[in-house]
Amino acid sequence: MIKDYQYQKELRDSYDFCIIGGGPAGITLALRLAGSGWSVVLVEGGGHEYSQRSQALYTCPSSALDAYAHETRLRFLGGTSNHWAGRCRPFEPSDFAVPPVGNLPGWPIAFSEVERYLAGAMAIVDLPAGSGFTPINGALNGGEFDADRFLLSPPTRFAQKYAEDLRESDGLDLFINCNCVDLEFAPTSGRIAAVVVSDYDRNRERLRAKNFILATGAIENARQLLNSESLVAHGIVSRDGFVGRCFMEHLNVDMGTFILQEGQRTEPSQYFTTEAFTSAYQSGKGNITTTVLSEVRTYGMTARVKGFFENLMCEIGAAHKIDYIAKFNCPGDGVISTLIEQFPSVNSRISLLNERDELGVAKVSIHWELSPADRHTIKSIGLEMAKRFAETGLGFVKLNDYVYDTSVPLNMTPHAHHMGTTRMAATPEQGVVDTNCRVFGTDNLYIAGSSIFSTGGACNPTMPLLQFALRLADHLNEKMRSLASSYS
Ligand SMILES: Cc1cc2nc3c(=O)[nH]c(=O)nc-3n(C[C@H](O)[C@H](O)[C@H](O)COP(=O)(O)OP(=O)(O)OC[C@H]3O[C@@H](n4cnc5c(N)ncnc54)[C@H](O)[C@@H]3O)c2cc1C
Repeated sequence: MIKDYQYQKELRDSYDFCIIGGGPAGITLALRLAGSGWSVVLVEGGGHEYSQRSQALYTCPSSALDAYAHETRLRFLGGTSNHWAGRCRPFEPSDFAVPPVGNLPGWPIAFSEVERYLAGAMAIVDLPAGSGFTPINGALNGGEFDADRFLLSPPTRFAQKYAEDLRESDGLDLFINCNCVDLEFAPTSGRIAAVVVSDYDRNRERLRAKNFILATGAIENARQLLNSESLVAHGIVSRDGFVGRCFMEHLNVDMGTFILQEGQRTEPSQYFTTEAFTSAYQSGKGNITTTVLSEVRTYGMTARVKGFFENLMCEIGAAHKIDYIAKFNCPGDGVISTLIEQFPSVNSRISLLNERDELGVAKVSIHWELSPADRHTIKSIGLEMAKRFAETGLGFVKLNDYVYDTSVPLNMTPHAHHMGTTRMAATPEQGVVDTNCRVFGTDNLYIAGSSIFSTGGACNPTMPLLQFALRLADHLNEKMRSLASSYS
């Protein structure tokens, strides 16, 4: 059943599982665990629709690079799946086998641990069974690049697609407008005893369960841990430790433009770095998309004025000379966009602020920066791509200067893929959750979502985070069953 906590304070005395956050990760876990016969409460802070009041609780300033933390998340049932684009690309074996450049370890588990949940995750986002991830095209193929392989989900909107299941599942209580505002840690048992939930009038209540799973997205998962005074007081969370650190994004770098040789295909093409490339350059991975512009992308009078200058400048071959006063692409030119891996770095982090939100929860900020290793990845991919363009007779690339001159500030936007803030590791000295997604130092607090990613590869995070959610559901089923059999 679905209830509105603003008006219906009807929590049971206790549940087997309390899941906080009704996005793709939380909804998947709730349905799996309830389907296995456990009593489950899913606590969603927003309502059925977007509301300014809920969204305002996501306000989070950035320093260094802008992560657009407010615009890239949605705080209502279904979470950010309410506007995700549905691009799905799986992790690769090398993501788990090769450690990231830098001094942090990579994944502490084998690729096979997540691979076995791929089919299940594909079904959840409506990708046809057995459709596979076959290469899409091949013009740049060679030692450095492979044709990319990805699939597009319709895209699945989780609140709509799973509405009936959420309403009808036996054992599942979903409360909307029910905000988690604190996690209460009991040091004697090593367990989270309760979470404190609040409606929008700041009426608070303790919610008890045997197990708790945070699934509020990568920024909020870290925020909830940092905000909990009891976790901090008992040394489970240090506000200067790993919680919130290693925030990673995928980088959409405007690499430059290109002109195709006559007779070459004009459809968008997608390429992916090979393992030979990343190992030769000691760089991260990346996807490159090349698109030929067929028309000027402005409207009305601006388009006409811009078109006039554009044609004039392109005709006399002076477009590059006025780049510094007006940057545009000529019709027929190609643009290059990317999805590039960022290595984990402790310098990029979520930190607690002194200010509090409307519900009394401490706000956070993001400090997001690129390391020299990330600039090296961007430069290596850009230069190699330009070289391959020429070598294969595809065309000519004009790279933007910041691609090869790392002292020039980068023109780049994030992909809204927030990762790494509660990273998985073998020991608490290297991360926040263990190989079963359990927060180190606790017996019953788990994390779901891309905040657990030790590295982000260059794959879109949602389908992989669902693979991890299914794996976590299996682990929790097993844990509860073995507890039940030890008491019988
Ligand atoms: C424009 C855009 C396009 C994207 N396109 C793609 C794509 O093509 N492919 C891809 O893989 N990914 C894409 N993404 C990323 C994708 O949306 C996320 O990876 C995914 O939604 C994360 O799921 P989640 O369940 O971990 O978190 P979220 O979807 O963020 O859900 C978190 C939930 O927790 C709730 N919540 C937050 N705080 C609290 C609280 N205190 N108490 C209770 N509930 C709370 C929120 O309301 C929300 O429902 C895109 C993102 C954006 C913004």
